[in-house]
Amino acid sequence: MAANGIPEDVLMDNDLIKDLVDVAKDSALLNGVLMRTKETPNSSEVVTYAPFTLFPSPVPEATFHQALAVQTHYNRLVDKISQDSSFLEEALASTIKVDDFTGRLFNIYRHVLQEGKTQSIVLGLNRSDYMLDQNEDGSASLKQIEINTIAASFGGLASHTPNVHRHILKVAGRLEDSKRILDNNPSAGLAKGLSKAWDLYGSERAVVLYLVEELQRNIFDHRYVENELWKRNIPVIRRQFEDVAKTGFLDQDKRLFVDGREVAIVYFRNGYMPQNYTEQLCWGCKICHRETDAITYYHDNVYDFFFFFFTHLAGTKKVQQELARPGVLERFFPGEPDVVDKIRATFAGLYTLDMGPEGDKTVAMALAKPDKFVLKPQREGGGNNLYGAEICQVLEGVKQSTERMAYILMDKVQPRPVHNYLLRLGTPLKLSTCLSELGVFGAYVRHGQDMVLNECAGHLLRTKSDEHSDGGVAAGVAVLDNPLLV
Ligand code: ADP
Ligand code: MG
Ligand code: MG
Repeated sequence: MAANGIPEDVLMDNDLIKDLVDVAKDSALLNGVLMRTKETPNSSEVVTYAPFTLFPSPVPEATFHQALAVQTHYNRLVDKISQDSSFLEEALASTIKVDDFTGRLFNIYRHVLQEGKTQSIVLGLNRSDYMLDQNEDGSASLKQIEINTIAASFGGLASHTPNVHRHILKVAGRLEDSKRILDNNPSAGLAKGLSKAWDLYGSERAVVLYLVEELQRNIFDHRYVENELWKRNIPVIRRQFEDVAKTGFLDQDKRLFVDGREVAIVYFRNGYMPQNYTEQLCWGCKICHRETDAITYYHDNVYDFFFFFFTHLAGTKKVQQELARPGVLERFFPGEPDVVDKIRATFAGLYTLDMGPEGDKTVAMALAKPDKFVLKPQREGGGNNLYGAEICQVLEGVKQSTERMAYILMDKVQPRPVHNYLLRLGTPLKLSTCLSELGVFGAYVRHGQDMVLNECAGHLLRTKSDEHSDGGVAAGVAVLDNPLLV
């Protein structure tokens, strides 16, 4: 067990911990680390604190800076993949045959390509997630878990958690540790990307449309970024797929209007899971309306439906696995071996399950040592991956059929566990053995061929009990945290 800077006698002092927990919850509320409740997800009459750790968690300084420094390279990589239709076509060829959701996204992407449209302004907001694999010599290596290219969340709340941990540490008598909690402001970083794209779109009236889910528990996370935009006098509206389907149309210049408002940017905070798309309404809307010309899923000059499919596909687990093949990164960064090295250094082992001898080898390897791997389908949002005995169960069922191509296999990253308390509404307090995942936000804007903005937009540490193999904050497993650099 690694020390998290908090001595075990403090962690075991029940009276002190009880006091600190009260202080911590109030501090979260005072600092706006908020979430709506499960019971009333669409009302702010009663709200609670977003789940978080009592103490910050240790992150080695060099690895933390490595993660931040590689982010602008990842931004460029996502952009390059999104523009490279032949790579996407090749990389996803097997997956789309057996995975309906990815197949549907891909069909729309193909349709759009056939139209020969390209956008002059492209905005990308992503979050690359890592765990620190512990080496035998006690050091840790930064390993990417995945990159989220759509609806990457918690940048808003993560901008407000540092003050909570600073306060808790002071009350716990750890002033020096408190001073070491880093500032973090992904809200401003993400808003900077959005406002740059909005400026380039060039209409004061035009709004940023947040495409949101029906259940909006995490609205405060959105609001922080929204408010950054309002501060810059950029109007924001929030709508669901249904609203866009009902009232959206394109004018003769292919500008998108929703509820009569001109839309400069569609910011996807939804649309990453198959269940987000109802058959008649959304898939229908995207394909049919296009034919009737009432609304298309793309129009010039904005980050919208069109661009969404490109980046969403670029962020699939299958693409991640294909990028790890020898020579692939070199194709995207010719003449930049240092960039290739920096990105590749963050890759864990990733293995294809396509039909053929390579995929057969992957199956045999996974069945022999299931605890060393994670089996991943093409899904987002946590709770979809398979571990240990489940890997064997599923692989035994699909190993002879093309269905196995819906998955990829990945080395299981083994971070060093740390003791901490996870504070979540309705969950009894107990000392947990915890694992952390570091996310780094990226924002970029491309105008024609020029990258006019490419930045690391802040970080997010999430921590979960080691009883759970999988699952993020929204899935009810991980909680918000802050790195304490060691
Ligand atoms: P999602 O898009 O659903 O968030 P992830 O690939 O991030 O999918 O996996 C979800 C969670 O599963 C991660 O947050 C992490 O806790 C765990 N996980 C995923 N891949 C690995 C891995 N290679 N090693 C260890 N844990 C992993
Ligand atoms: Mg994801
Ligand atoms: Mg994830």
